Amino acid sequence: MSGRTAPPGPVAVVGAGPVGLTAALVLARSGVPVTVLESRNELATESRASTFHPATLDLLDELGVAAALRRRGRTVDRLQWRDLDGGVHAELNYSLLAGHTRHPYRLHVEQARLTPLLLDALTATGLADVRFGATVTGAAETGGGVRLRTEEAAGRATVGHHPYVLAADGSRSRLREIAGLPGTAEEYPDYALRVVTDSPLDELVPGLAPLAYVRDPRGSFSALGMPDHWRLIFRIRRGTPRAEVLAPEAVRARVERALPGAAGRAVRITDAHTYRLARFLLPRYRAGRVLFAGDAAHLTSTAGGLNMNCGLHDAVETGRALATVLQTGTGDEAPLDTALGRRRCVVETAVLPRSEARTAGLDSPAELLARIADLRRTAADPRAATDYLLKASLLDVAPRPLKGDAHADLVSQAHR
Ligand SMILES: Cc1cc2nc3c(=O)[nH]c(=O)nc-3n(C[C@H](O)[C@H](O)[C@H](O)COP(=O)(O)OP(=O)(O)OC[C@H]3O[C@@H](n4cnc5c(N)ncnc54)[C@H](O)[C@@H]3O)c2cc1C
Repeated sequence: MSGRTAPPGPVAVVGAGPVGLTAALVLARSGVPVTVLESRNELATESRASTFHPATLDLLDELGVAAALRRRGRTVDRLQWRDLDGGVHAELNYSLLAGHTRHPYRLHVEQARLTPLLLDALTATGLADVRFGATVTGAAETGGGVRLRTEEAAGRATVGHHPYVLAADGSRSRLREIAGLPGTAEEYPDYALRVVTDSPLDELVPGLAPLAYVRDPRGSFSALGMPDHWRLIFRIRRGTPRAEVLAPEAVRARVERALPGAAGRAVRITDAHTYRLARFLLPRYRAGRVLFAGDAAHLTSTAGGLNMNCGLHDAVETGRALATVLQTGTGDEAPLDTALGRRRCVVETAVLPRSEARTAGLDSPAELLARIADLRRTAADPRAATDYLLKASLLDVAPRPLKGDAHADLVSQAHR
């Protein structure tokens, strides 16, 4: 890559996952043209994150996609902790968050239902060039931007010149590697087993809430009610062979132990798979004019469903700040650095500790009983319960939706 430098083109967003598409939409809605480069030939359809917290729904509402997402999902009005015999330790109702959010509930829906909505909204702006089958393979900083090398169909390579690049290229981020930033995640001592059933568990298990944490010295797991199925998430000690855990008879036995009230046989298991749980936090969220967001910047355990939500918040806050920098045109990058610093701080001080606290002490009966007693006290005190839900929803650390004069708010938000 040599010769004369072309004038900077649109901002490049690498990755058309939920984070990249959200950031691109925020930029395009602010009048900033974007090029989205995605190595796959189409949007991902795999089953991954499924929880959208109230703060995230507020932000997606502002982008005009929350209502359609809600129609595709299952709203969850309460969190429930229970034991294996069906006794309820505690329940917290999301209505406590009315006044703090326009969406006092969480939504269970596959992240793959969000990305097509974002893509449609992005296309409708007329300011986005979304290229599938385009893998970014190189990046080099030039005076006023970044030269990006992309391999497209049939090995054709193109070079683009962009004032900034937003790397939302996921947990194995190529941009991170190119920038020479560290990328090794630390695995937790457990991995996750996800069992899927299309049986109506709320009909088979009396009183089961659409989000239930079973906390019992005899065994703990989580149950999530989706629009058309349920997911049971178990933690398995690392080192336990996955083939053993995934053997059909082992999965069935585990489900029967977990749901004794459901008369085991009535539960039809449609899928079971495992995934690793790891933590990672990038030491800084920019390398020159390459900015990082979402899984490229951080990973947490899936407990609490925080990682994707935090990534979507990164996309909004970083996208707004970048739009401000580009629109003011003074070269002052302070709003961007403030936003990136804040996003990293949110992961370090809120996302990682909160998600780790969700599963702490599950293997120690004494600790577990103490935590259950704590939860009961929290549920009995509306202020403590509200505070718990605010934190569990990241409402206390999320970017706020904009109101009124959009430009003034963009600037003030970015400077906060
Ligand atoms: C099994 C599983 C369960 C999960 N459950 C939860 C959950 O319950 N709650 C939660 O909050 N999170 C969960 N997560 C995490 C969640 O899925 C991620 O946080 C989320 O997908 C992050 O979005 P992203 O856009 O940053 O990255 P991704 O969704 O990974 O998107 C990155 C995109 O970049 C593209 N790309 C990569 N490299 C390049 C390149 N060089 N050039 C061009 N394109 C490139 C990829 O093809 C991909 O489309 C789960 C993850 C897994 C794997």
